[in-house]
Amino acid sequence: MAPALRYLGGACARARGGFSGALAWGWGPAPGAPWPLGRGGRRASTSSFDVVIVGGGIVGLASARALILRHPALSIGVLEKEKDLAVHQTGHNSGVIHSGIYYKPESLKARLCVQGAALIYEYCNQKGISYKQCGKLIVAVEQEEIPRLQALYERGLQNGVRGLRLIQPEDIKKKEPYCRGLMAIDCPYTGIVDYRQVALSFAQDFQEAGGSVLTNFEVKEIETAKESPSRSKDGVTYPIVIRNTKGEEVRCQYVVTCAGLYSDRISELSGCNPDPRIVPFRGDYLVLKPEKRYLVKGNIYPVPDSRFPFLGVHFTPRMDGSIWLGPNAVLALKREGYRPFDFSARDVMDVIIKSGLIKLVFQNFSYGVNEMYKALFLSATVKHLQKFIPEITVSDIRRWARRTLHQQLQ
Ligand SMILES: Cc1cc2nc3c(=O)[nH]c(=O)nc-3n(C[C@H](O)[C@H](O)[C@H](O)COP(=O)(O)OP(=O)(O)OC[C@H]3O[C@@H](n4cnc5c(N)ncnc54)[C@H](O)[C@@H]3O)c2cc1C
Repeated sequence: MAPALRYLGGACARARGGFSGALAWGWGPAPGAPWPLGRGGRRASTSSFDVVIVGGGIVGLASARALILRHPALSIGVLEKEKDLAVHQTGHNSGVIHSGIYYKPESLKARLCVQGAALIYEYCNQKGISYKQCGKLIVAVEQEEIPRLQALYERGLQNGVRGLRLIQPEDIKKKEPYCRGLMAIDCPYTGIVDYRQVALSFAQDFQEAGGSVLTNFEVKEIETAKESPSRSKDGVTYPIVIRNTKGEEVRCQYVVTCAGLYSDRISELSGCNPDPRIVPFRGDYLVLKPEKRYLVKGNIYPVPDSRFPFLGVHFTPRMDGSIWLGPNAVLALKREGYRPFDFSARDVMDVIIKSGLIKLVFQNFSYGVNEMYKALFLSATVKHLQKFIPEITVSDIRRWARRTLHQQLQ
């Protein structure tokens, strides 16, 4: 197996068969240096590429953009199953530009998050994409949370997050007049942005640099042709064949897969290991009524509990001025199924048989029951939110304004 890049479900892979090539940041040729390609240069036909990237979410599009800017001679195609780009996780998230507090110091995640925040601000400035650096408070509301908050603060300092302060109740009030708390981490560097807009801008850069985006192309098969059936020159130069659900195919030399909630299945199709498996969770956001928006100025987060994989229900201002509250996390019966009763037998069977769900349920039983309870009873969520902003009432909230999907990697 060739070395593989994995990031948020993205996998860089070789195709099934005897193909010896593989591709990952950090071990490809130096920027501008030639690739070890059969022919190289721009694409020979509309369906042959040096490199194909599967998935038109932000990870696939950022990868495509970075690759073509570093190696302009490559012909690169992005394949996306939907008719539009960035409509799944990228278009359904909280929109927060995280600053890098949470991750283990010196880990790749910590380094990438801190660098990524700086790069995204720089990119938005260059392109004129709107964002708001509205800051974030991580607030301890119980005495027992304070040691965890202090540890998190130390972690943020070690990660090099800019401008961090540990603040007391009077300073919490100055930042968020309606929020109560015993102590908080003030992180002024956190911001908000519309990530779909960023992803579409990446797509534009990629296409302007000569890249191709093929939408409505749902990858169903990836294989390496042992020899070209047609004995055509393309068949020899581009040995990997990628077919979609309509039987159409593209050929290439390298494949990078960035398929989000389908990353395990596409990884398996490409001849790589499907682990870690995806277990889909649906997250519901509540929305504060417009007349109550004054209650929240910036992002307000709870102190995370390291036993659980989620950050907890938070208050998030959006670029359109609305305030979202959430998300919760309830096991979904369909990947990319945004309505509560969306169902896919294959997805459910995969979760039960392959994902290690039983282990996950046992590990997070009380959390899971609590999340389901909160999903069913608005008053339970509001009670939780009142720990931070006591003024909030059930009548201040529009229910289930938005649903989105988490991926939980097992
Ligand atoms: C509820 C929630 C809140 C979040 N909040 C934040 C936040 O505030 N800040 C932050 O930085 N991150 C946040 N994230 C994480 C962030 O949204 C994701 O890490 C990111 O969007 C992942 O991008 P992606 O390109 O990997 O996946 P996606 O955006 O899901 O893209 C994957 C793409 O692959 C395509 N695809 C799948 N299968 C195939 C196939 N067979 N053929 C062709 N195409 C295929 C899909 O159609 C999709 O377009 C949040 C995530 C969730 C779920």
